[in-house]
Amino acid sequence: MYKVGITGGIGSGKTTVCKVFEVLGIPVFYADTEAKNIMIGDAVLIDGIKSAFGNESYFADGKLNNKHIAGIVFNNETELAKLNALVHPAVFRAFDAWEAVVNPNVPYTLKEAALLFESGSYKMCDTTILVTAPTELRLNRVIERDNVTAEQVKARMDKQFSDVEKEKLADHFVINDEQHGIIAQVLALHQQFLSMSNG
Ligand code: ATP
Repeated sequence: MYKVGITGGIGSGKTTVCKVFEVLGIPVFYADTEAKNIMIGDAVLIDGIKSAFGNESYFADGKLNNKHIAGIVFNNETELAKLNALVHPAVFRAFDAWEAVVNPNVPYTLKEAALLFESGSYKMCDTTILVTAPTELRLNRVIERDNVTAEQVKARMDKQFSDVEKEKLADHFVINDEQHGIIAQVLALHQQFLSMSNG
């Protein structure tokens, strides 16, 4: 099945753009939500995390000990890479399992991932979309949505590739600022993907 990867910096509006594709009947796999689910549901991944970071990575009731893991990987590139090397392949497996049960009549699927380029998962997509918005607008959107400070959002932004790096790798763009409407842009992309998936 034709696969479209979609990404964008924090607060760019990638989830909002995905909702428009969903209205058009396109199934969306939300990789970041799925990553959270499998960290408490995928036995292979759980074993890997316990081996790498200790049994205290999980509470007795099976819940993830976020504080313990964050304490290890926060500002430690090596430990973060170790965690990603466990989680990313598990998300790829989850995507394959999801895609295997998606309605086979849909023309294409969408995979939304904040780290689509950083994780290398864009290589498994037929094409990619980058959602962009000015940094100031992204900052304000996330402050309002998550009730966090500008510093907390900036710290999260610093951990992602910049838009300049992502633009080099992306095939298509959705500009989600206050001048461009996203619906017309999504409809135009949808037409392109329909013809690509038919061809
Ligand atoms: P994250 O990386 O944190 O998951 P995201 O890129 O998925 O963020 P969204 O959650 O889609 O971004 O959008 C961030 C916030 O901005 C949300 O509260 C959303 O409702 C709002 N937003 C996004 N796009 C628009 C828009 N075009 N008009 C108004 N509000 C918007």
